[in-house]
Amino acid sequence: MTQRPIYLDCHATTPVDPRVLEAMIPFFTHQFGNAASNSHIYGWEAETAVKQARDGLAAAINASPEEIIFTSGATEANNLAIKGVAEAYLERGRHIITVQTEHNAVLDPCTYLASLGFEVTVLPVQPNGLIDLDALEATLRDDTILVSVMAANNEIGVLQPLAEIGQRCRDRGVLFHSDAAQAIGKVPLDVQAMQVDLMSLTAHKVYGPKGIGALYVRRRNPRVALAPQQHGGGHERGMRSGTLYTPQIVGFAKAVELGLAEMAAETARLKGLRDYLWARLQVCDGIVLNGHSSQRLPGNLNLSIEAVDGQALLLGLRPLVAISSGSACSSASRKPSHVLKALGHSDDLAYATLRFGLGRFTTADEIEQVADGVIATIKALRSAQVVA
Ligand SMILES: *Cc1c(COP(=O)(O)O)cnc(C)c1O
Repeated sequence: MTQRPIYLDCHATTPVDPRVLEAMIPFFTHQFGNAASNSHIYGWEAETAVKQARDGLAAAINASPEEIIFTSGATEANNLAIKGVAEAYLERGRHIITVQTEHNAVLDPCTYLASLGFEVTVLPVQPNGLIDLDALEATLRDDTILVSVMAANNEIGVLQPLAEIGQRCRDRGVLFHSDAAQAIGKVPLDVQAMQVDLMSLTAHKVYGPKGIGALYVRRRNPRVALAPQQHGGGHERGMRSGTLYTPQIVGFAKAVELGLAEMAAETARLKGLRDYLWARLQVCDGIVLNGHSSQRLPGNLNLSIEAVDGQALLLGLRPLVAISSGSACSSASRKPSHVLKALGHSDDLAYATLRFGLGRFTTADEIEQVADGVIATIKALRSAQVVA
């Protein structure tokens, strides 16, 4: 077996686009300076590269460059946003609102804050994965300091109505944070139109390198105060100390630039492949589409398959396709995904779930092979079960 499985796990991570890698390479070797060194050309080169990257990333979400704080990724950006706001505003209030289907990098900082005495409301979602705006509005209180709702879900691909959420938060004077790790470079984002005050970004879901991301922090109307979570040399306006990782920053900006430039064509292509895969799989009965049918990432298809054993399904598909299931396998314990549970699924149905993440390098031929393989595997498992 020399053939590696087809990669359809683009919500977990993506390969670095060769054009991104090319942009990064000089900054590992020749232009290796520290962007904070202001007395020589090595530092100036790095500083210029970081400035260009910052300008490009800010423009990509309609922010200004000073509002971009580089971090190690979206996990750190979420932690900085949530804990940083909680600490800076604790005299004003201690109530935070988030949603059941958020990434653990949002839920766990909220749980941590709850252990410190903050009060966290975790909103449920509708069966299609979208939040109920009236329920959100009813939950906002005078002591609410932050609402955190993701842009695009990493399992079911659902796109939350950021502009509508932003409007409701702004009306009540509550800060709005959005984890846009899955959305940047794939769907349009505009922090002004959407009235987002803090936005978490990462590079490695959009064909950039791992280990780099950013937090957008609004500077006016309103100016967001943020308590740093990492102290040191005062980089990033004191909000995140640590020497800037120039090659990763350059790669991040290049990845987002490409994502934006190719968004229209790539969205159409991925939707075509995704919808074709879904159409073909419907020859099997008892397949449930998870998440809103159209308000979702173009490369996402998330299906729960009735009357098959989830573990057997995943094992059967393993040689053919690298894909993710409906369980978060943390260490030995197999737990059903909290996102699928929030949709109201039983544990068994949640386990029998396949998350297809199509991406820039996915081909029509691969989708054909995967459709054939998934159909054959489901049929084989179901007939084996009947015989037994
Ligand atoms: C991948 C992901 C994260 C974590 O991002 P890292 O950059 O890997 O830390 C956070 N939130 C969502 C929605 C993600 O998909």
